[in-house]
Amino acid sequence: MKITHAYAAQDAKSKLAPFEYQPRALRHHDVEIEILYCGVCHSDLHQARNEWRNTIFPVVPGHEIVGRVTAVGGHTQKYNVGDLVGVGCMVDSCRTCPSCQEGLEQYCENGFVGTYNGEDRETKAITYGGYSTSVVVHEDFVLKVPANLDPAGAAPLLCAGITTYSPLHHWGAGPGKKVGVVGLGGLGHMGVKIAHAMGAHVVLFTTSPSKIEDGKRLGADEVVISKDADQMAAHANSFDLIVNTVAAQHDLNPFITLLKRDGTLVLVGAPEHDHPSPQVFNLIFKRRSVAGSLIGGIKETQDMLDFCGKHNIVSDIELINMNQINEAYERMLKSDVKYRFVIDIETLRNASSAA
Ligand code: NAP
Ligand code: ZN
Ligand code: ZN
Repeated sequence: MKITHAYAAQDAKSKLAPFEYQPRALRHHDVEIEILYCGVCHSDLHQARNEWRNTIFPVVPGHEIVGRVTAVGGHTQKYNVGDLVGVGCMVDSCRTCPSCQEGLEQYCENGFVGTYNGEDRETKAITYGGYSTSVVVHEDFVLKVPANLDPAGAAPLLCAGITTYSPLHHWGAGPGKKVGVVGLGGLGHMGVKIAHAMGAHVVLFTTSPSKIEDGKRLGADEVVISKDADQMAAHANSFDLIVNTVAAQHDLNPFITLLKRDGTLVLVGAPEHDHPSPQVFNLIFKRRSVAGSLIGGIKETQDMLDFCGKHNIVSDIELINMNQINEAYERMLKSDVKYRFVIDIETLRNASSAA
């Protein structure tokens, strides 16, 4: 089988650089996908730099994949050669535990297999992600991408989209609900678009005054500069739900104070260092909750893609060449992305065939 060309980090301190590997031979239910676009998630950066202390090197990041099916295994039923498909953060799970049976594979009690930095359940080989020319995935973990969506803009839906859609849906964002989104990065801008499309009253919290106009354009009814205590105080006790996408450690209390009685602050940002523990009295006096949420299940991811197809929602992207990835990571660390980098994988294919 042909070699897969990719970009990998060899250790936590190295830049990403060209790498090659032999893909697995197609199993009966596998789908081989020629990757067209791959989004750049802050989780890729956390893992390339071993900030979660569980990275197996070399690591090929990338879990916002859109591509075309180029081959299928003998028993594959869901996909045909030529289909436009997506792959998100998971490529397998045990399928038998209560969470898998409920379609919540991301909470698999035996651990889901990550699209990268995961371990194949059969061979124990380490999985490699979407900064690659192709990927081989079991059909049950492949998604259909609606034909009306721009494929490059759709790639970030596979992680940023589902990670915000899932808590918004679970906690009932919709008409009559006041919903906050903290941080206007990759996840945050999808959260604003999706919460707006669900019909909620959306308030964006940002640390960047330069993002106010964009926040409104993307669907926020109001934008609050979270460092401004007076602006924050004006929203005290008023939110049903706040989804916090911030990728760095910070004080949660100023956001908890904004929740109504029984309101929920959902953490989806996964920083290297934990946030300081919130004040207990700030929770118990209004029966407020602080919760967490992890990506979304496969069925829910398809529902999200169909929802985005119906509402014509894609990510606002900056398309980059594969060899610009290290620069993109530096800009992401400065919150300088509008609002998701997406790698044009054709540039990797071309560079590899020229070499
Ligand atoms: P991103 O594009 O870098 O966006 C993060 C945003 O957070 C920034 O744009 C910035 O927004 C804000 N921010 C950054 N540093 C901050 C600081 N020190 N204080 C306050 N605000 C700050 O990252 P992303 O790709 O959206 O990912 C966000 C986080 O979610 C990452 O930790 C990632 O690993 C995690 N994640 C979790 C899941 C899950 O399943 N739970 C899935 C995917 C990603 P403003 O400029 O508007 O303030
Ligand atoms: Zn991600
Ligand atoms: Zn399971």
